[in-house]
This record gives sequence, C-alpha cells and structure tokens, in this order.
Amino acid sequence: MSNNKVKVPTVSKNDEVVVDIVGLTHEGEGVGRADGFTLFIQGALPGERVRAKVLKVKKTYGYAKLQELLVKSADRVDAPCPIYKQCGGCQLQHLSYEGQLAWKRQHVVDNLERIGKLRVAGADGEGGLVGGEADAVIVHPTVGMDEPWRYRNKASVPMGMAAVATGGDGDGLFSEERLIGGFYARGSHRIIDMDECMIQHSHNDDIVARVKAIGRELGVSAYNEETGRGLLRHVMTRVGFVSGEAMIVLITNGQHIPQVDSWIKMIREAVPNVKSIVQNVNKRDTNVIFGDETRVLWGSEVIYDELDGIRFAISARSFYQVNPVQTVELYRKAVEYAALTGSERVIDAYCGIGTISLFLARQAGHVYGVEIVPEAIADAERNAKLNGIENASFEAGPAEVVIPRWRKEGIVPAVIVVDPPRKGCDEALLETILAMHPERVVYVSCNPSTLARDLRVLEDGGYRTVEVQPVDMFPHTTHIESVCSLIYKGLSE
Ligand code: SAH
Repeated sequence: MSNNKVKVPTVSKNDEVVVDIVGLTHEGEGVGRADGFTLFIQGALPGERVRAKVLKVKKTYGYAKLQELLVKSADRVDAPCPIYKQCGGCQLQHLSYEGQLAWKRQHVVDNLERIGKLRVAGADGEGGLVGGEADAVIVHPTVGMDEPWRYRNKASVPMGMAAVATGGDGDGLFSEERLIGGFYARGSHRIIDMDECMIQHSHNDDIVARVKAIGRELGVSAYNEETGRGLLRHVMTRVGFVSGEAMIVLITNGQHIPQVDSWIKMIREAVPNVKSIVQNVNKRDTNVIFGDETRVLWGSEVIYDELDGIRFAISARSFYQVNPVQTVELYRKAVEYAALTGSERVIDAYCGIGTISLFLARQAGHVYGVEIVPEAIADAERNAKLNGIENASFEAGPAEVVIPRWRKEGIVPAVIVVDPPRKGCDEALLETILAMHPERVVYVSCNPSTLARDLRVLEDGGYRTVEVQPVDMFPHTTHIESVCSLIYKGLSE
C-alpha cells in the first residue's frame, strides 16, 4: 500500500530557519529545504546558505523572507538598478549575467529531461557531447547579449496621481496631486513614479518623461482603478532601433481628450522622432492594458523598423518582439535549422506580423503563414509587399484549423516552423504535423515546459530533437526563449 499519510509541515510562520539554497524557480526565487520542508525565498541564490524568517506555510511548501546571507554565491552581484527591490519587472539582477545565461540553459535542460523525458548530451552544463551520446539532444549555451541593458524597444507605463509636498509655512505643509507614471510596486497595484528603467531604450524613458511633463502642464488626470475616474491609464511607446521612429499610444478611460490639439503640438515639439500618436480607449475595469478602440491622433498608423535588412510596419496593437538585437539572433537560428535550399514549401504557424515568415521566404520556394489575429495578418501582407517578397502568403485563423485544411488542399511542406504563445501548440496542430510529417520541424518557444511537453508528442510521433539553442531575449528577467530543430526519423535514419 502506498504511504499516503498527510505530512505535517515541520516549520511554522515566524520561525527563523537556516536554509541551503539548491535551485531557482521560474519566478527567480531561491528554493531550499528546512527540516525537509520546501521553502521559497526571494533574493536567495543556488549555493547560498541563508537565515530566513518563515512568512507563509502551505501544505507542502512555504515562503520565507531572506534575513541574512551566511554563505554567498560566487555568482552574486549587486543589482545595478536603484529600484530593483521595489519593482517586479526584473527578477535576476542579483545574479551575474554569466550566471543568468547558465541558469537559463539549465532550466531548458531540466524541462527537457523531466517533462520531455529526453536525453540531453553533456547535461553537466558544458553543452558538449559526452561519449556514447550521439543520439542525445544538444542544448547549446544560451546566446547572451554583449550589452544586456537598454534592450527593450517598447514601454507600457501605468499612470497615476500622487500627493507631493509643495512647500510649507508656519501653519503646516501644502501638498498637491501630481501626475506620475512608472511601475507597480512588486506584488501590488500601487504605482511608483519612475524616470529611468535600465532595460528600456533611453528614447522610451525620455518620451515617457516628456509626456508626463506635458500632462502635468495641461493638468491631465490619471485613471484611478478604485473610483474608475480620471483620464490617462497608460502611456505606451515603441521605438524602431534601426529607423529611430517612435510611436506614442495614449491609453485613455474614455474617448474625449481635453485640449487634444495642445497635447499633440507639445508632444511633437518635445519628441522630434515621433511618427505616430495614437489613442486607445479602454473604459473597462480590467488589468488588460488595451481596449478595443484605437484611432490615430496624428501622423502615421504605423512606424517602421528593420530586422536584418527586412522592413516591418508595426501598428499599435501588433505583436513585435521587444528585443530587436536578440530577435535577429533567434530568427537567424530558426532559418538555419530550417535548412532551406530555395525550393521548399514552408509553413510558419503562429506567424504574428510575418517576421519569421519573411526571414524564411528569402530562402524558400513558398512560405505559408497563419496567425489568429486578423490585424496581424494584414500587417504581414503589408510587410511582404513592403519588401517586394512575393513568395509568402498569409491566412488569419487558428493554426490548428487552418493547417489541417491546407493539408486537405494538398499543401505538402518540407518544413513547419511553430512559434506558439506560452501555452504551447494546440494538440490538434501537433497531430496534423505528425500526419504531414515534414522533413523538419523548427520549434520557437517562450516557455520551456510546454516546449518539453510538445517535443515528447513529436518524438513519440517519429521526430528526433537534434539541437536546442536558448537565446536570451529578456536579460535580467526569468523569461527563456529557445529555438529547437527536429528531424523526421524516417528520412534521417
Ligand atoms: N512568430 C511571431 C509571433 C509569435 S507570438 C514573431 O516572432 O513575432 C505568438 C503568436 O501566436 C501571436 O501573434 C498570437 O496572436 C498567435 N496565436 C495565438 N494562438 C494562436 C492560434 N491558435 N493559431 C494561430 N496563431 C495564434
């Protein structure tokens, strides 16, 4: 009989414990055990011994607060950002960049082994082949950035009001409400004013600061989540790293913007590289940033940017990778894994605005892109034209519905590329891939656990996972992107 006795937690709230940290969760918390009981400790790193105070105890695990570092990790660094502890945006700044890259690779390896039941070559962390492992998956060292700061091309900044002291006399202090914008304090919805974010392109910081200053001058109110009143909810800015063009989106709680002409005039004067000023209306009581109604207040509906010589038009609501430098690395790897000779038919599933599709089209016979958001497909078609690319076509719809239909219509791809959202590929799509059995599958993933789950399905259906290349798209955060090459065994062995 199995032993199903309920374990009683061996620690209680407010206990002080000494914990050896053995791992890092996908949220960046240190994991260790006290009396065999699992504790998660924010800020603690693997290899460290810490003194911590238990905050919360659940049935099988708990949370504790770091009190003192008894043994420090050699990979620990001082987080360079002055607001790192308050802000929840980055989770790994206290780990050296080399340490982050190694952890990301190891996290991919762990998922492939545990969830995907795959055999990984040189799982010792060196990434090399160990004797007798010819069939094992190679997981390369993570491709990092030379300069892993200021890499984001897009900022979405929540706006709020805060009382500031304006002076005082003998009778007391005066204060007034002032427009602020920055970030939500870690684990809360309190907005903290911020002038600078170290992972953000300095143009974006600068634009947000100027828009805030203009808002203050015009007496603009910020939306208040509790009362549902006030105008400005978020300011979103996006800047093309190659083109230098900027887009500013004002997300407002209602259609009417008082003094809208002054707004536009002042923004244009303060931000000479702005090419597009857009309003998005969101009146709902929700954490979702964008509402359904988008209109151009001034300038173009899109800004342009370039990745590896291909131009892209990007509209306010389009998905566009936030780290353009690493995106080029990622897409080049995807194209390399597709191993095209110029004549193949290729399917790009979850194609967004057609970025990977157009990279592939330069080396393929024809690329078929599919994506669920119709606006993104309109952008993809426009982007193909913009670059004079005629061997790519796009269709809006769920990949798991459109691709089976393509199969019925007789489209036989040599390669299928997938780049699904965090939840991974739909089962019906995986079944269709197995039924179509293209020579190669290239899997681009932003979530190692669903990647591992889907690779197991493809392996069971006759594919072999050959290589995985993690690419660091989001330095200092726990996000992990990787690209993976699979070949159909029937053809290769
Ligand atoms: N390959 C693109 C986009 C990747 S993001 C790029 O690199 O820019 C994942 C995309 O999948 C999003 O654009 C999302 O809208 C789309 N998507 C989500 N579910 C989908 C589905 N069931 N079928 C097709 N596309 C889907």
